Amino acid sequence: MSLFNFKETIEEIVGSKALRNTKNTRTDALLRAQKADNALNTYPFDDISPDLVLKINPRAKRMALRLDPKKQIINLVVPKRASMRSAYLFALEHKFWIRQKLKELPPSIGFNDGVTIPILGNNTEIDIIYDITLKTTDITLKNNKLTVLTNKIDPTSRIKRFIINLAKDKLTVLSHEKAAQIDKKIISVDVKDTSSRWGSCSQDGKLSYSWRLIFAPEYAFDYVVAHEVAHLIHMDHSPDFWMECKDLSAHYSKGKSWMKRHSDQLIRYN
Ligand SMILES: [Zn+2]
Repeated sequence: MSLFNFKETIEEIVGSKALRNTKNTRTDALLRAQKADNALNTYPFDDISPDLVLKINPRAKRMALRLDPKKQIINLVVPKRASMRSAYLFALEHKFWIRQKLKELPPSIGFNDGVTIPILGNNTEIDIIYDITLKTTDITLKNNKLTVLTNKIDPTSRIKRFIINLAKDKLTVLSHEKAAQIDKKIISVDVKDTSSRWGSCSQDGKLSYSWRLIFAPEYAFDYVVAHEVAHLIHMDHSPDFWMECKDLSAHYSKGKSWMKRHSDQLIRYN
């Protein structure tokens, strides 16, 4: 069972199942990419939006527009047999929706010097100190400051890795703590780069989370962990499940409503 943020996975027509697990030969994929490329040159998709990306998908049954908040684009999914003219007309018909959705996306924030990021809701400033004589990059988090001593011109990927590891550590500790409260065992805790699914729990006790939860306030972070751990007992969203959530998270309703209203803010950190 998982938490979805419906705001980010807007699908107009095609069900998501049809779009997953597409395995095709490389040649087929190349031909489709070429066809999409030709269509971009033939029809003025760019006038609708330069952030519209054409994807020909052999498994798609109907045309669909899918917002990809992480890449800040909208994918126009086109079934293999559909004509490019019909794809263009479909996009044109939904021109205002496309532009509106892109406009609503929060601007993305990189892990650069001087940038403030909310680690578990605490505003934390990134302080990058460049020193060519250093042999390695050293990152420390202390007193709401992320200090990065580095010999790299661009240490942002190292900073990202540090934050992902931090998220994983905190999610792992909290998951085990909550599971112990209800006498359940966790097999593993993993973090993923998902932007529409904040957490999931498998029947055999494997939990996974989006690492970007680290940017949520502590009570929301706590709620998401409680939600997934509660699924170790109830693999549904029944009243009993929600009672369990409540027992596992002190400010559960506050956390739940924060996730519902603001979780789209989490994906802007890159
Ligand atoms: Zn759930």
